[in-house]
Amino acid sequence: MPELPEVETIRRGLKPIVGRRIQSAEFGLPRLILGAKAAELTRRLQGQLIKAVLRRGKYLILELDKDSLVFHLGMTGQLTFAPAHAKEDTRFLRTVTGLQKAVGVHPVDAHTHAILHLDNGGRMQFRDPRTFGKILFIAGEDWKSHPRLSKLGDEPLDLKIESFLAKNYPSDSKRSIKALLLDQSFLAGVGNIYADEALFLSGIHPKKLVSSVKPAERTCLLEAVKTVLRDGIRNQGTTFSDYRKPDGSSGKNFERLKVYGRGGQPCRDCKTVLIKTVIAQRGTVFCPECQPLSAGKKRAISKTVDKVH
Ligand SMILES: [Zn+2]
Repeated sequence: MPELPEVETIRRGLKPIVGRRIQSAEFGLPRLILGAKAAELTRRLQGQLIKAVLRRGKYLILELDKDSLVFHLGMTGQLTFAPAHAKEDTRFLRTVTGLQKAVGVHPVDAHTHAILHLDNGGRMQFRDPRTFGKILFIAGEDWKSHPRLSKLGDEPLDLKIESFLAKNYPSDSKRSIKALLLDQSFLAGVGNIYADEALFLSGIHPKKLVSSVKPAERTCLLEAVKTVLRDGIRNQGTTFSDYRKPDGSSGKNFERLKVYGRGGQPCRDCKTVLIKTVIAQRGTVFCPECQPLSAGKKRAISKTVDKVH
């Protein structure tokens, strides 16, 4: 599922559409559209200028001169840009999950649910095989106060950690710390991949109760969140199966992950076998040595063992 680094990478890759006008728009699957009927949306978008491409949490926003068009990629959504006369790439690549995926800009197919044709002959395509994605039309420029977007928590990369925690950390909560990280009204943009990675980096067990995470650990965790998100952006996102950059190619962050997708394999730090379980209704991978549930002693021991070998 695309999270903050993947959506940010897509946003950066869509720069060529900024300053272009939408010549025409096609929408194939009406149930993905919220806020307008497909025919009305097609009419309304025609001729509008794309002023900016922005990101808020996992949402990608096209700011137009009259309205806003917001995309949520769900599980398998892809936004690609094809310049005028671009050659479609029909070569296929075997991914880590064994699925066959296109390498370049995908040809328009049964999974292409929206196309924006631009005034310079380029086109932006929204493709989503599992159709959990959404296209949200917001009349007017004020997308920030739309109910779906106004309830989002702070952007993790921008926040000042101490004041954020003082204001927003629910110290009495008996939820798991992993559930809190996934809560979009706490922090916007963190999902399963980067939550597991940040918890590993800060040495915190994902099942630990929010109330029992100590203040120093909270700071450490938020610093880890920033680190894993920045690394994810630097590597242009994590491609596990469907995520693609706007040019159709894969991100490079998967190979760098410490725990996500690595259940049953040895911990990169201490060689203990990583455990895969379900926490907060999501598949979760952690290291029982580096992320102890109670005392922090085990981690120190495992580091000593590492030195001996
Ligand atoms: Zn470990």
